[in-house]
Amino acid sequence: MDKKTLIESAFKEIDKHRNKIINIANSILHEPEEGFKEKKTSKKVKEVFEELGIKYRSELAITGIKGVLGEGKKGPVIAIIAELDAIINYDYPFADKETGAAHACGHFAQVAQLIGAAIGLKKIADRLSGQVVLFVVPAEEFINLEFREDLKREGHIKYYGGKQELIRLGEFDDIDIVIMQHAQSEYPGRKALIPDGSNGFIGKSVRFIGKEAHAGDAPYNGINALNAFNIALSAIHAQRETFRDEDSVRVHPIVTKGGDSVNNVPSEVKVELYVRARTVKAIKEINHKVDTALMAGAMAVGAKVEITNTPGYLPVENNNQLKSIWAKNAAELIGKENVLYTGPRGGSTDMGDLTQIKPGIHPYIGSFTGGLHSREFKVAEEEMAYIISSKIYVLTVIDLLSGGAETAKEIIRDFTPNLSKDEYLKLLDSLSYKNHWKYEG
Ligand SMILES: [Zn+2]
Repeated sequence: MDKKTLIESAFKEIDKHRNKIINIANSILHEPEEGFKEKKTSKKVKEVFEELGIKYRSELAITGIKGVLGEGKKGPVIAIIAELDAIINYDYPFADKETGAAHACGHFAQVAQLIGAAIGLKKIADRLSGQVVLFVVPAEEFINLEFREDLKREGHIKYYGGKQELIRLGEFDDIDIVIMQHAQSEYPGRKALIPDGSNGFIGKSVRFIGKEAHAGDAPYNGINALNAFNIALSAIHAQRETFRDEDSVRVHPIVTKGGDSVNNVPSEVKVELYVRARTVKAIKEINHKVDTALMAGAMAVGAKVEITNTPGYLPVENNNQLKSIWAKNAAELIGKENVLYTGPRGGSTDMGDLTQIKPGIHPYIGSFTGGLHSREFKVAEEEMAYIISSKIYVLTVIDLLSGGAETAKEIIRDFTPNLSKDEYLKLLDSLSYKNHWKYEG
């Protein structure tokens, strides 16, 4: 069967199942769940896999599902990935009223695209020279940290990102190439975006410890932890002029506890922040500057500071050969003028971790409106959001695995990972540490 016939037969199958693909998207959109809690969403995917006769394993990193097409076939293994989880946004129209979980990052569309691609590829899987893994993964959003700390303490997970956890568990060991498409809404209409990678980050939780005292009667007996943070924040701002443009640095704190009562000098202040940048080297450098700024704040008022560092995600490095193949295929379906190469993204994703160890690509699909994570985010056009985007996956897999899978083999051969899996896991562990600092005079 030639390539053209493979494509026609896969596309015909997708078009025939158009409603099924759109229904799964809507069902997930209206029943959002947070990371590592996506039990209902996971069940929905399993049901579709069963209906389609796709073999799978489940409960991977709690809720993940790994389906396979062409099981046991010799040749490269390509994974198409979709994320199960929602963000928190109580104002989102379809948010879960109790938990605030909301699909304002478009992950529901990813699952629909994966199902669409699965439907098309299943029809032609025996004609491909390799296997396709359909990997539906938990917990991309780096949120709900206290809940994840509990999971970690109870031994259910070690890392907070779903893909990080699946790498640790060895679930990506048998996969050669990883592809995941994400929603974007900055460019209206049928657009496909290939950014020049993304930021990575380290997550920090910080506790300033001062001394309480009557705020009116005896403030001179207190040590004001809020003032310590205030000075630390100014010190962070003072460092911003040292950040390099090309490192695309973001340092963004929030105060999660500012004091106990207004008539008492704040004795404990809690802060969470991310240090994001384009390279691991820059993340480490800036992280050090942030640590010294936090200590300077504590020192200025004689407070103590405890800094807990958690490995966040690594920067995305899109593979050049995969970029060209994906761009060519998107152009075939929506026109060359609608495929845009953009600068690096300021946000972060655990697809970054995967692209440090495997050839991979993390492009974006248009036809959404409203900012990602905002209450306005929604699908503008179903055809592009679910159907055309499924077909881009199909074309890309056919390019990689048709004939003798020469294209996939070439990409695998040419790829030099930034990190081996062992180096990667060691790096994550090295980014997990605590600093306790107290001015000794
Ligand atoms: Zn997302």
